[in-house]
Amino acid sequence: MTRREFIYLDYNATTPCDPRVLEVMLPHFTEHFANPSSSTHPAGRRAADALEEAREQVAGLFGASARDVIFTSGATESNNLALYGVARAALREGDRRQRIVTLPTEHKAVLEPVADLAVLGFDVQYAPVHRDGQVDLAALVELVDTNTLLVSIQAANSEVGTLQPLAEIGALTRAVGAYFHTDATQAVGRVALDWRSLPADLLSLSSHKIYGPKGAGALLARRALRQGKLDPLTRGGGQEGKLRAGTQNVPALVGFGLACELMAGEGLAEAERQRGLRDEFERRLSEALPQVSFNGRGAERLPNTSSVTVPGVEADALLMHLPNLGLSLGSACNSGALEPSYVLTELGLSGEIASSTFRMSLGKNTSREDVQRAVTDIAQGFETLHLAEAGSPL
Ligand SMILES: *Cc1c(COP(=O)(O)O)cnc(C)c1O
Repeated sequence: MTRREFIYLDYNATTPCDPRVLEVMLPHFTEHFANPSSSTHPAGRRAADALEEAREQVAGLFGASARDVIFTSGATESNNLALYGVARAALREGDRRQRIVTLPTEHKAVLEPVADLAVLGFDVQYAPVHRDGQVDLAALVELVDTNTLLVSIQAANSEVGTLQPLAEIGALTRAVGAYFHTDATQAVGRVALDWRSLPADLLSLSSHKIYGPKGAGALLARRALRQGKLDPLTRGGGQEGKLRAGTQNVPALVGFGLACELMAGEGLAEAERQRGLRDEFERRLSEALPQVSFNGRGAERLPNTSSVTVPGVEADALLMHLPNLGLSLGSACNSGALEPSYVLTELGLSGEIASSTFRMSLGKNTSREDVQRAVTDIAQGFETLHLAEAGSPL
């Protein structure tokens, strides 16, 4: 067998830095290194200007105002700031609202803070999801009441790609006077998100999922929250409108800004190209292996994501047989543990079916040839594994 080039198909875990992004970052490590809070000299003011330009670029992707952008180290921090920030402000003000509603299929960067807030006394409720991953809106309406402080529901799931009905969720949240936070990390650049019409109060995003550097991100927050209803996680120098103290990571944030601007220009057309490739992948794989099924297909989902169940094989064994394909078992944060993905089991998949499931996520460097080779290799890997198991003396 000829040695073949590695094909990365794990863009939901992270993306490579766009070369244009890297280029714009570099001078900020060396030449333009001043502290953006050093307003006493031109070098500092220049750094502050670069940061404010990046803030405009991030806001621009959503039609938001730059004032709504709080820079963070990534979506994990943005989620923590949103959840603890709202909860702590409510505690401080003696707010009687105690309920926080979320989904069992959220990213760990929501589930873990929310579990901690439950320990601290908040009334945490998990809204059920349908088989394809969408929230059960009828059940959500019952859970979201006038005791509800915050609803935190992701825009898109990273493992199966399910999109949530944000407009409906936001409307029913606002009807009871609660806040709506959405972790939009996977949806950004792939799905149109307009901050002017979106009924959300807080939105998390990450730079490294959109071809920017790792260690940068933002939380969009409406003015009412920024003015007293969102407490900071870090206190100190008062950066980011006193909501995120600490010297900003200027090179990374400058890169993040350009990554957002590029997404605003190129994202949706590129997402449609990926949708074509993803659909072709699913069609061809079904032809090669008629027993495969795809999770989340009955709902609207991310155009680049395919959650593939191959009954009869363990997905981790299959991926071991496919070292040239950068596929994943689900969320990067959970692989390593040999338990099936909690997202899949929450959708109602049995442990066995969940263990036979892997994720393919496409990106802007994925070609049609890559996808076709993935189909061939996966089908071949399946046959090899199946023969090995059938012929095993054990
Ligand atoms: C990747 C991801 C995160 C974590 O983002 P970081 O920037 O790596 O902290 C949070 N939520 C979702 C949905 C993600 O896909």
